[in-house]
Amino acid sequence: MNNIHGHCVCGAVEIIIKEYRDFVYTCHCDTCRRMNSGPVLSVDPGPKENVKFAQGENKIAIYHDEDVERGFCSVCGSTLFWHDPADNHYCMNAELFDEIVKNASFNLELFYDMKPGYYEFAGERKKLDRNFKEI
Ligand SMILES: [Zn+2]
Ligand SMILES: [Zn+2]
Repeated sequence: MNNIHGHCVCGAVEIIIKEYRDFVYTCHCDTCRRMNSGPVLSVDPGPKENVKFAQGENKIAIYHDEDVERGFCSVCGSTLFWHDPADNHYCMNAELFDEIVKNASFNLELFYDMKPGYYEFAGERKKLDRNFKEI
C-alpha cells in the first residue's frame, strides 16, 4: 500500500505512511500499557523518510521517555507514535490507520513476559520477552 492516511480521534493530527504492507504487532510492556490502558497495537513504518506529518505537526506533544519520544495529540490525547531519534525509527499506533487494520497480519507480541495474566490475544504468533528472546 502507498500513501496510507491516518488520523487521531479529533482529526487535528494527520499522518501519512508512504509505503507499508500489513504488519501489526503488540507491546505488553509496562509503559505502553500504562499510556494506552492496555497493550498497544502498532505498525512499524521505520525511518522518518517513510512518514509524513500531513497536518497538525504543531499539535503533537512529545513525552521524552529516556532516549525515545512518545508522541500524542495535545488536543484529544490519542497515542500517535514511539520514535527513536538515534535510530531514526518510528512505530505508530496501528489504529490511526483504518486501511492497515482492516486486513492486518498480527504476528508479533513484544515484552510478553511483562503481560499481566488477565488478558490474552487469541491465536498463535511469535512472542518475545523483554530481552527479545523468543518464548
Ligand atoms: Zn487529536
Ligand atoms: Zn511497550
